[in-house]
Amino acid sequence: MTAPVVTSYAGGLSAYREALQTYLATDPELDRWRSASHAGTEDRMADHARLMGELYRHGWSRHGWPEEAGGLGGDERFRAVLYDELAAADLPIPGPHLLLETLGPPMVRFAPALAAAHLPACLRGEEWWGQGFSEPEAGSDLAGLRCRARREGDAYVISGQKLWTSHGATATRLVCLVRTGTAESRHRGLSMIMVDVATPGVSVRPIALASGDDELAEVFFDDAVVPATRLVGEEGQGWAVAMYLLQFERAMYAWLSAADALRGLRELRNRLRSRMSDGRALPDGAAARLGEVYTDLVALRARSGDTVRRLAAGQTVGPEASVDKVLLATLEIGLHDLARDLLGAEFLFGGAADDVRWRADWWYSRSATMLGGSAEVQRTILADHVLGLPKESKA
Ligand SMILES: Cc1cc2nc3c(=O)[nH]c(=O)nc-3n(C[C@H](O)[C@H](O)[C@H](O)COP(=O)(O)OP(=O)(O)OC[C@H]3O[C@@H](n4cnc5c(N)ncnc54)[C@H](O)[C@@H]3O)c2cc1C
Repeated sequence: MTAPVVTSYAGGLSAYREALQTYLATDPELDRWRSASHAGTEDRMADHARLMGELYRHGWSRHGWPEEAGGLGGDERFRAVLYDELAAADLPIPGPHLLLETLGPPMVRFAPALAAAHLPACLRGEEWWGQGFSEPEAGSDLAGLRCRARREGDAYVISGQKLWTSHGATATRLVCLVRTGTAESRHRGLSMIMVDVATPGVSVRPIALASGDDELAEVFFDDAVVPATRLVGEEGQGWAVAMYLLQFERAMYAWLSAADALRGLRELRNRLRSRMSDGRALPDGAAARLGEVYTDLVALRARSGDTVRRLAAGQTVGPEASVDKVLLATLEIGLHDLARDLLGAEFLFGGAADDVRWRADWWYSRSATMLGGSAEVQRTILADHVLGLPKESKA
C-alpha cells in the first residue's frame, strides 16, 4: 500500500525528517538501490532517476521546491535533510540531483514559466539537464565565452561550442550561457537560454573519462533555432543569472556531496572493522587518517550548514560560497586517496561492485579542484572579494 503524500510539514523540519526516516527504514522497495551495481555512470544515472520517481511519488523530493514548479513548498533545508537521510539510510543520493541543485534554483527564480513546464519532470527523474557554460577557451575566464546567439524574430539562432558538459550525452535539455552582445562585451553581453538537445543543429559528442565512463560531452551548435521564450532572465542578464546559479552549484553541491562522503567514510570504516575481526592487520596509520578525513568532513558540514541556512533565508551568499567549494575539494581528494590506500589490492583489482565504484570515484575525485571552478580561481575570488586582500604586485 502506498503511503499518502504529506503535502505540508507545518510542524517543520524535524517532523519531515522523522517521517522520512521511517519511510526509508521500512519501505522494502528501496532495497534494490542499496545493493545495485552499474555498468557505468550513465547506467547509474538512469537507475538513480528511477529512485527519484519513487521519492517523488511519495512526496519526499518535492519538499523544498515551490508548488508552481511541482514541489510542495518549503526551503532549501528540506532538500538538505533529504540528502542527509538518504545517505544515512545507505541509499545513493540520485546523480541527477547534482544538476537539479545547480540548475533548478535559477530556473525557479529567473524563468518561472519554464520551471513550471519542465522542473516537475526533473523531480520525477524523467529527464535531466546539462549545464552548458565552459568552452574550449572559456573555463576560468567564463566571461570570454564565444558561443553566439543572434536574435531573429521571436527566436535565437545559436552557433558555437560547449565543452565538459556533465551528462551532456544523456541530458534532455541544456541550460547554456551564450553571447548575445558584441564579441568584446565580456560579461555584459551574455544571456542564459534553455535548449532542447533534440533541436536540429545541436550535436553531442561524448568524452570518455579516465575511468572509462562517458560522463562528459562536447556540444556543438550549428545554427540551432531556439524560441526566445526559452531565455532564463532577460537578454544581457546572463551573468547575473550565472552568479546566482554558482551559489547553488558551490554550496548545495557541497552539502549533498558531504552527505555522500559520510556514507563512503562509514563504508570504509566498516570494511576495516571486518578486516580486524578476521584477524588481518590494518595499514599503518589507518585510524589516524580516517580521523583526519572525518575532521575535514565535519569542517565542511559546519561551514556548509551555515551556507544552506543563509540560502534558505533568501540571503545572497555570493563569493563566500567559494569557501565551501575549496573545503569540498580537499575532502573529495582526501577521502578517495584514503580509500585507495586502505583498500589496497581490493581497490586496484577487486571486482565487487563497491571496489569498482571506489575506483571510478577515485578517478573522478581528481577533478574536484577543477569542476565548478578551479581551486586557484576560488582562492583568488576569496582573496579579492571576501578578504579584500591587496592585489599581488607584478614586480
Ligand atoms: C569533471 C568535470 C565536470 C565538469 N562539468 C561541467 C559542466 O557540467 N558544465 C560546464 O559548463 N563546465 C563543466 N566543467 C568545466 C569546468 O567548469 C572547467 O574545467 C573549469 O572552470 C576550469 O576551466 P578550464 O577547464 O577551461 O581550465 P582553465 O581555465 O584553462 O584553467 C587551467 C588551469 O589554469 C589555472 N588558472 C586559470 N586561470 C587562472 C587565474 N586567473 N589564476 C590562477 N590560476 C588560473 C586553473 O586553476 C587551472 O589549474 C567540468 C569540468 C570537469 C573536470
